[in-house]
Amino acid sequence: MSNNILVINSGSSSIKFSLFDMSSEAERASGLAERLNTAEGEITIKSAEGKLNLKLEKSDYRSTLEVIINTLTEQGLMDTLPVAIGHRVVHGGEFFSDPVLVTADVIEKIKQCIPLAPLHNPAAVAGIEAMESLYPEIPQVTVFDTAFHQTLPPKAYLYGVPYELYEELGVRRYGMHGTSHQYVSSEAAKRLGLGEKHGILTAHLGNGCSCSAVVNGKCVDTTMGMTPLEGLLMGTRSGDVDPGLHQFLHDQKGWSIEEITNVLNKKSGLLGISGVSNDMRSVEAAAEEGNERAQLALDVFHFRLARQLGGLAACLPQLDALVFTGGIGENSRSTRALIINTMKILGIELDEELNKTNGNELGVISKGNGPKAIVVNTAEELMIARAAQALI
Ligand code: ADP
Repeated sequence: MSNNILVINSGSSSIKFSLFDMSSEAERASGLAERLNTAEGEITIKSAEGKLNLKLEKSDYRSTLEVIINTLTEQGLMDTLPVAIGHRVVHGGEFFSDPVLVTADVIEKIKQCIPLAPLHNPAAVAGIEAMESLYPEIPQVTVFDTAFHQTLPPKAYLYGVPYELYEELGVRRYGMHGTSHQYVSSEAAKRLGLGEKHGILTAHLGNGCSCSAVVNGKCVDTTMGMTPLEGLLMGTRSGDVDPGLHQFLHDQKGWSIEEITNVLNKKSGLLGISGVSNDMRSVEAAAEEGNERAQLALDVFHFRLARQLGGLAACLPQLDALVFTGGIGENSRSTRALIINTMKILGIELDEELNKTNGNELGVISKGNGPKAIVVNTAEELMIARAAQALI
């Protein structure tokens, strides 16, 4: 019997998807539907059989999801409908600390979290509701980006603002990329034989970047906050700024709150400082060619990363491992080398040769008896598929 699980990540104008055969956990296909709700909607599907590109006649969520399922079937990538559908949901607020089966109550709670993730949660709801109306017989599971961070203690999640704002509106730190932090920390503990008692720092460095401190499998602090804007410098996001900046920019430039938020989310970070790109490869290449602003962007990126990791290390009873993941963490040798070589305080000794090859067969890039550094490729989609399988 088929054991396919489809994982869906619904964005405001796109849907990413992956199809897993859970008998072997092999990814049979993956793809992206883009420019949804416009006349230019299109789908790209990749599999062992090659790459397929389709124009969408109708590109609302429901029609798009139907085309995805029909095309996967027609292409022989699945012989029956999936046994479950797993949805990535960005914000679960304080409602969810684990994956759950979708019910009317779950959808209602995801909707209640819309003010906390106004761009992401409505898309997730649209994806779930469309799937439900198309295939009511297929169980659906939601996995939340915030869930792993629900173990943060109040001292780590509260902001220094009136407590009523937390009580009334849920103003607090939630953290994101939880599925990735959970997967790479547990994988590192397993590969390094750390046992149940461990202290791990995880650095998820992609277009969005965040770090976490994990003690005995539980997250105790993380760098993203109420929204994904807090913390590290990212591709286009500023990370931490002085909260007074908003008033200053409003006064000096006449920018509205929306304009300031847009600048901090879309025009800052590596892109904003370098003026070159939000993409680490391009910024590294430009710096290599002598572009000073690109070098400055790298310096700020690395300095802030080190500073945040240092802060998170203070949450650990001991440091056993530092884990790198995400496009930058998995591939940028210079980022890993810079962090490990400048943060002598962590006591990690870099193995230059292993770092060049992105680690040995386990991903390890350090040597000696001190804490280990390890590269673990993130597998958020597989984690969602596993969660779905566990719940059906
Ligand atoms: P997303 O957060 O969108 O999933 P990824 O995890 O794929 O993104 O990470 C994208 C980032 O990884 C980009 O900044 C990209 O430049 C960077 N990256 C990918 N490969 C390399 C590489 N070989 N060297 C440096 N950076 C890389």
